[in-house]
Amino acid sequence: MYPTDFDYHRPESVSDAVKLLKENPEAKVLAGGHSLLPVMKLRLAMPTALIDITRLSELSGVREDGDAVVIGANTTYSELMASDVIKQKLPFLVDAADQVGDVQVRNVGTIGGACAHCDPAADFPAIVLALDAEIKTVGSSGEQTHKASDFFVDMFTPRLEPDEVITEIRLPNVADIASATYQKFAHPASGYAIVGVAGVRTSGGDVRLTVTGSVPITTRLTAAEGEISGKDLNEANIKAAADKAGEGLDFVGDIHASDQYRAHLTRVFTRRALEKLAG
Ligand SMILES: Cc1cc2nc3c(=O)[nH]c(=O)nc-3n(C[C@H](O)[C@H](O)[C@H](O)COP(=O)(O)OP(=O)(O)OC[C@H]3O[C@@H](n4cnc5c(N)ncnc54)[C@H](O)[C@@H]3O)c2cc1C
Repeated sequence: MYPTDFDYHRPESVSDAVKLLKENPEAKVLAGGHSLLPVMKLRLAMPTALIDITRLSELSGVREDGDAVVIGANTTYSELMASDVIKQKLPFLVDAADQVGDVQVRNVGTIGGACAHCDPAADFPAIVLALDAEIKTVGSSGEQTHKASDFFVDMFTPRLEPDEVITEIRLPNVADIASATYQKFAHPASGYAIVGVAGVRTSGGDVRLTVTGSVPITTRLTAAEGEISGKDLNEANIKAAADKAGEGLDFVGDIHASDQYRAHLTRVFTRRALEKLAG
């Protein structure tokens, strides 16, 4: 199917993009287009204008900022994988990004787009949530910084005003990360997560675990975290924590996997994530 007609704008700066969004309330930001264009073709989204931010170099790249690693919203998965900062500071992200879709998706899809789209089966929302990231936005009312825990509100619903652009994703205290991992059971055709579990262990022994794919929106696995944080990552403790993964959550079921199967996979992939964190 073809999308409905739309105007096309290519702003020269983020502030121009914000101005255009303010002037066109039914407009959408266009980044890699790998999520937006399919939904436009299905006419699930019918923006009257697209504001193409892909050439805004100020939104690209990865840099260190004190204890933090900062990922520009326009950074593609491939750019992330090639970044020396990522290879040095957060090497698990190279493997995580390599699990996204296929090479075409990785070359064009952006980290900011993945966060803004809030697809319930996307990988990076769960990863940035496990990393306790901050998501920076700019809109007509100025700059804002959201904790990832506040940003992913619901399925396809980020905490983002229509005239706001995500500018960067800030990963704080990376030196405090003792180990981190992303474990995924991928849909064989699209690569999207049937279930994905991200895990981060701090040098103090705290463990953050998040899940995607099996629930309507990425979320922390708090019962499992409570069971394992501060403890040895031995076989018995890992099993006890994995058994609690998903406690209190409502799982989704569809033609690809039932809710019970996704609940089971959440426990299995939590165990795998914890085994990885244990090294
Ligand atoms: C075949 C295929 C396989 C895929 N497999 C996977 C997979 O395995 N795992 C996975 O996680 N994803 C997968 N994806 C999705 C892919 O990663 C998307 O490209 C990505 O999630 C969205 O990024 P984008 O740059 O393409 O965003 P776009 O499609 O351009 O935008 C998506 C949404 O975010 C908004 N947006 C984009 N950037 C910004 C910004 N900076 N500020 C504000 N709003 C913004 C847009 O307005 C739109 O609403 C797949 C996609 C395809 C087509």
